[in-house]
Amino acid sequence: MTKSDLMWNTALLYPAPDSQELEADLGSFDQLAADFRRTYFEKTAALDDSAIVAAIREYENLQARMAKPFCYAHLLFAADSGSDVNRALSQRCSELGSRLSQQLLFFDLELMELSDERFESIRSFSAASPYIHFLEGIRKFRPHTLKENEERLLTRKDLTGVRAFTKLFDELSASFSYQMELDGEMRTFTGEELLSLLHHTSPDVRFQAMTLFLEKHGEHGIVYNAVFNNMALDHGQEMELRHYNTPIQPTNIGNEIPDEAVEHLMQVTEANYGLAQEYFRIKAGMLKMERLRNCDIYAPVAETERSFTFDEARKIVVDSYREFDPAFGSIVEAFFSERRVDVMPRTGKSGGAFAMGISPDLPPFLLLNFTGTLRDLATIAHEAGHGLHFVISQKQRLLNYHAPLPLAETASVFGEMLLTRRLLDNETDPVIRRSLLCAKIEDIIATTFRQTVLTRFELRLHTERTVGLLSNDRIAEIWLEENAKLYGDAVEMIPAYHWGWSYISHFIHSRFYCYSYTFAELLVLALFQKYREEGEAFKPGYHALLESGGALSPADTARLAGIDITDSGFWQKGYDVLAGLIAELKLIA
Ligand SMILES: [Zn+2]
Repeated sequence: MTKSDLMWNTALLYPAPDSQELEADLGSFDQLAADFRRTYFEKTAALDDSAIVAAIREYENLQARMAKPFCYAHLLFAADSGSDVNRALSQRCSELGSRLSQQLLFFDLELMELSDERFESIRSFSAASPYIHFLEGIRKFRPHTLKENEERLLTRKDLTGVRAFTKLFDELSASFSYQMELDGEMRTFTGEELLSLLHHTSPDVRFQAMTLFLEKHGEHGIVYNAVFNNMALDHGQEMELRHYNTPIQPTNIGNEIPDEAVEHLMQVTEANYGLAQEYFRIKAGMLKMERLRNCDIYAPVAETERSFTFDEARKIVVDSYREFDPAFGSIVEAFFSERRVDVMPRTGKSGGAFAMGISPDLPPFLLLNFTGTLRDLATIAHEAGHGLHFVISQKQRLLNYHAPLPLAETASVFGEMLLTRRLLDNETDPVIRRSLLCAKIEDIIATTFRQTVLTRFELRLHTERTVGLLSNDRIAEIWLEENAKLYGDAVEMIPAYHWGWSYISHFIHSRFYCYSYTFAELLVLALFQKYREEGEAFKPGYHALLESGGALSPADTARLAGIDITDSGFWQKGYDVLAGLIAELKLIA
């Protein structure tokens, strides 16, 4: 493979950042948005059913046209943020995007304001059927939305209020650097580098790294206290203004999951904490420790790690999809053969990994930072799963294209399961099998149990803040209590874990997001179990689930694959799969 084969070919979208095609698109949007506004502003309520559908279609086409250059700019910037051309284009697009959304915001608000009678009439109009879920999505916030001028005022004051605290949190946390001795040499680390030492073989290094990381946050306890208290106070006041009953309700409405279902999900999870404790005891045994400390949870269980070339990795991932369904294999293979993947790490390239689905008419792209580890292999399988989902749901229109949030991780996590299963089934070396199983089990623990601990903590934080200011000792107390439920006597929490709550950015950036991970992981485990039981018969339903994109609610989408998420026994099935993996590990541990 040549070097350029490992970089994505953005010419599939536009020939170049200075091309006429791109300029023509970008130059047309202000006028298009102004025309749309002139045609519909303050007129939506008066439109008849077919005129409403025509307006939504026009709005959708406009969004689709805008998605192409904006995504193109995002891809260029992600691949090389050091380029002045890419930076200028990205900045231009974000300013243009903000201008356009201000122009178009009225349309959502007017759709939300349609009377119930108007909405019922549209619902029974057959040409509107592709847009009903979209309309319901907008209208479900109707009882919690304020008048337009009040909304605008809130948005404006947020800039110096809650968003200022968010920014302070980000800037403070990103400013930290850490000095620690490693291999006899004093070195400087970023937070991310320090946390990656939790995978180090030495127990002392793991302990030191985690302690140093947390204590640094503790030194800035005054700031974190202000950030957390004000975030919670702000949310509490908004709950009151918008008439929400509980702090988690806005998130649940957005996710289209009833409050009781979320509570049930967490209760079943808590009832299974014993499984995590069982695993932690097994792992302590493998590490020859009496008891794990929470800095040891990700310690490696084998001395040597296996490494892969990219060609090997690509083949293994494609084969694991192909084994499930030849068509899936071909879709995943096309990302590589059509050069829609940017593979290697480079200076100026964005870190991590992502998959980008643009619109039903354009090919999705993947970004990786491949270094050859087993974890990287799982990342390819994960992002390829997102990519596959984007391709299969291209039968939908743009407004129904993206899967609802709780289902957005279905194909990616399912793909990782396919990979793990294939690796386990083809691996004869017990040491590597053990590493594979531990990695998978730890992954599941992190995305289910830990996320429930985080959500319970978050709920208590918000609820107590409605009563009054919380001291850092009180915040730590709640934090340690919720963690202790998970760890029991199987894991000892290190003293610095007192500050463990302070660095978790989900609390600040996306309130109550964490349970979505639990939801997604358990759904996938249940789907995977169903696949193992039913074989071929499972596949058409799973395909229908992916194909449906965002056309239906999460419950209705899952039903396409024969899964009833409202069934009280459903979540337990996921934990039964985990119990099976732990039993498998016990046999070889
Ligand atoms: Zn993902």
